[in-house]
Amino acid sequence: MRTIRESLRLKRSETLTAKPDQGRAMECVAADLASTHFIKSGDFTRFADWRFIHRARLNLVPLNGSSSWRTGDRRCRRCGYTTESLSHVVDHCMRYTALYMARHNSIVARIKKAAGTRFQVIAENTTIGTQKLRPDLVIKRGKTVLIIDVTVPFDNRMAAFEVAARSKKEKYEQLRAELASEHGAAEVVPFIVGALGSWDPNNNKFMRQLCSRKYGDLMRKLCVSDTIRSSRNIYIEHITGAFDKVWHKGFLIKLREQLPHTWCALLESYLTDRQFRVIHEEAVTEWKNISAGVPQGSVLGPILYLLYTADIPNNDNNDTITTAMFADDTAILSTSKNQLTATDNLQASINNIFAWTRRWKIKINGDKSVHVNYTLRKTENIPILLNQTLIPQKDSAKYLGMHLDSRLNWKHHVRQKKIQVKEKIRKLYWLVGPHSELTIENKRLLYVAIIKPIWTYGIQLWGCASKSNIDIIQR
Ligand SMILES: [Zn+2]
Repeated sequence: MRTIRESLRLKRSETLTAKPDQGRAMECVAADLASTHFIKSGDFTRFADWRFIHRARLNLVPLNGSSSWRTGDRRCRRCGYTTESLSHVVDHCMRYTALYMARHNSIVARIKKAAGTRFQVIAENTTIGTQKLRPDLVIKRGKTVLIIDVTVPFDNRMAAFEVAARSKKEKYEQLRAELASEHGAAEVVPFIVGALGSWDPNNNKFMRQLCSRKYGDLMRKLCVSDTIRSSRNIYIEHITGAFDKVWHKGFLIKLREQLPHTWCALLESYLTDRQFRVIHEEAVTEWKNISAGVPQGSVLGPILYLLYTADIPNNDNNDTITTAMFADDTAILSTSKNQLTATDNLQASINNIFAWTRRWKIKINGDKSVHVNYTLRKTENIPILLNQTLIPQKDSAKYLGMHLDSRLNWKHHVRQKKIQVKEKIRKLYWLVGPHSELTIENKRLLYVAIIKPIWTYGIQLWGCASKSNIDIIQR
């Protein structure tokens, strides 16, 4: 029994690692148990890392160039490199050099700490030898010197780790010979952890020299989890961080098109060189620059936002399409006698707007979008896509506090309002209920000020609802 199960398991992992797109990282992950230490225990791993790493190792995180079958713009959205693959983002994009460095340094720090009891640190990130090389750590015990250099290559099959190890050995060969003649024996130790948290089993020999087995087990897990966390942070920065650098720049370009020079100069000074810091009880952080967004809660804020979004493509030349914007809430209405035509027009105009948001680094919240067919006739299920993701079809949409159902009979709206009114009355019951000591005038005042506005809002529109629906609210 056991052998059958075992061989099925092996077969499964062989099939997975053989897959060209998805097997690359899995081959590295499968090489050592430490790479998956957190799966059972959850040790040292945030939920966010967990969610990220499983998708990342199977190459399932959405990126422009993540899969060979994906069409359209494949370039890196930050640096313009030809393919925005996961390996580019977590290992090669020049925008994140500092973050890669920090990820690397956290591993070096762990090694240094582990070496503390048995070894003496001769050099740490300092130039050494006649070639003036700069290995991460040079440590010594007795007559043996170890030259340690940490690399975080992308988990692209074990061959990538072998190449990385070999190139380190070649790089430090001369230094090794010099140190060997000086101290007795010297060895180059390439220390490799994949960017997606694959522990290279070739590190294990060095780990046995470095520290006790127990400490080594712990350190392996920590290195894996640290790396996963850093790589996930880099990925998130890549996906969301855009906004901050280009926003003010793009905004000022638009302002110059729309406003006289003096106004621009004034607004420019209003936006640039702003700083913030966070104070919590005694703790105060240092000042950081704000390069995106407008001061929240300011008088100018909403106006600046309107100026920024004023040139959203609104299909003026096409009278079957209406684009309605209220602050950051946008509705696109496409009308036609034919559902297919209406949907086609809608898709075209969504594509336009999407291209525009990309250009001006505005984020669209795809999750909040809905697609509704307003008609009394039967409809077919024609999909609408936003950036290659399906917008869910619903029977009703909420816009500016009004629930617009697909037959425009306000049934849903009226129901919702009834629920809200009930909820408010329940909360105010101690004030407006029969046991409250308030005078009837004051109770009326509360009703008029708090409860009535809930259902009278937008009555101009839904006042024409059918009698049966209006009855709902009177009950
Ligand atoms: Zn890039």
